[in-house]
Amino acid sequence: MTSVSRIEPDLGFIQDLQNVGGLDLNKCYQCATCSVICPISPMDKPFPRKEMIWAQWGLKDKVVQDVDIWLCHKCGQCTETCPRGANPGELMAALRNVAYQSLAGPRFLGRWMSSAKHLPKLIAIPAVIFLIVWLITGSIYGTPFPTPHGEIEFGHIFPGDFSIDPIFGLAALFVLYTFYRGISTMAQTFKEQPRTFVVGFHRPQSIWVSLWQVIKEEVITHKKWRDCGTEEPEEAKFKGHILLFYSFVALFIVTGIVAFTHWSGKVVGFLDMPYPMALWNPVKILANLGAIGLVVGLVYLTKRRLNAAQRDGSSFYDWYLLATIWVVTLTGILSEIFRLLHVAGLSYIVYYLHLISVFMLIAYLPWSKLGHLVYRVVALAHARRLGRVSTEISTEQKNQLYVL
Ligand code: SF4
Ligand code: SF4
Repeated sequence: MTSVSRIEPDLGFIQDLQNVGGLDLNKCYQCATCSVICPISPMDKPFPRKEMIWAQWGLKDKVVQDVDIWLCHKCGQCTETCPRGANPGELMAALRNVAYQSLAGPRFLGRWMSSAKHLPKLIAIPAVIFLIVWLITGSIYGTPFPTPHGEIEFGHIFPGDFSIDPIFGLAALFVLYTFYRGISTMAQTFKEQPRTFVVGFHRPQSIWVSLWQVIKEEVITHKKWRDCGTEEPEEAKFKGHILLFYSFVALFIVTGIVAFTHWSGKVVGFLDMPYPMALWNPVKILANLGAIGLVVGLVYLTKRRLNAAQRDGSSFYDWYLLATIWVVTLTGILSEIFRLLHVAGLSYIVYYLHLISVFMLIAYLPWSKLGHLVYRVVALAHARRLGRVSTEISTEQKNQLYVL
């Protein structure tokens, strides 16, 4: 007897997808050109054609639980060759954006991060917090722009011990907890996926080995990014990403040293470093190199994004992260320049904007494209463990493949 499966589309999901970049998904007529052209799609159940039809049918659970949405590097080759202009590369990015919102709460933050109309609220949270701090310290000094002993020191207005460290410490804890919940949800959904039966013997790779391979090939060397091609747009994306990544590593090391010397200096006096640091201090040099790396990386990525926006359009998600990193970088550099030029008013105002933008980068991280740093690594490790490898690699290693 034939059984009938009833599909219950989630219409709200289709609407959400269209809001975050999947506007053209209904144009797809399932020709599969995109799956054939994709340089990193595996031979077994290739993407993104199947994701296009799941999205058209409104099968939210199916696409949000699909490990393949995290394998895509958004190189845009499928979009370029799609005969219907259905924009499959954008659709894959839109699916990841919806997945960020579903993985962990609070849901309202995920919703706010999905549209430009909520941007004022996202700015208002840190703006009010740091303004309250400024009002308190300003009233203690009797001026909003204090220069005791002729020195401009940001710590006068935004003291590390009582404002910056507790605020960013709490934000970091919130982000860590959100990622913990997001990764737990992700692991649960992957576990609930139908099992694949293997004909012959196939020893599953350990998750730790898979994780190390991903960290080495996708994060440290960005080697796997080359699988998307070495044409000019992919090269710009590769250079921009790797520069941004290592610049952030440099700035993270600087922040770690500053926090360590500051707090340990309270116990062991000689560890305390004098602030502001001299320009030739190695920690300061590393910070300035990090800032230069950020600017160069941002130029590469912005140029590429502008070209991609002309070709495929772009969403609020695409610009939120890029714009926030630009503001963090420029306000960081300008506040330093104004401080060295001894312009107290401008230094403090620009530093206030710098703190707002850093908060927007860190506290909203799990719902921004930077969230992929964590979710993508977890999904890729899982995909490797399952043996989901790209067509190119599978062809090269075909005598080692198992029938799935
Ligand atoms: S997205 Fe375009 S290329 Fe892919 S299956 Fe649909 S119509 Fe074909
Ligand atoms: S954007 Fe690139 S990596 Fe992503 S599905 Fe399309 S061709 Fe594949």
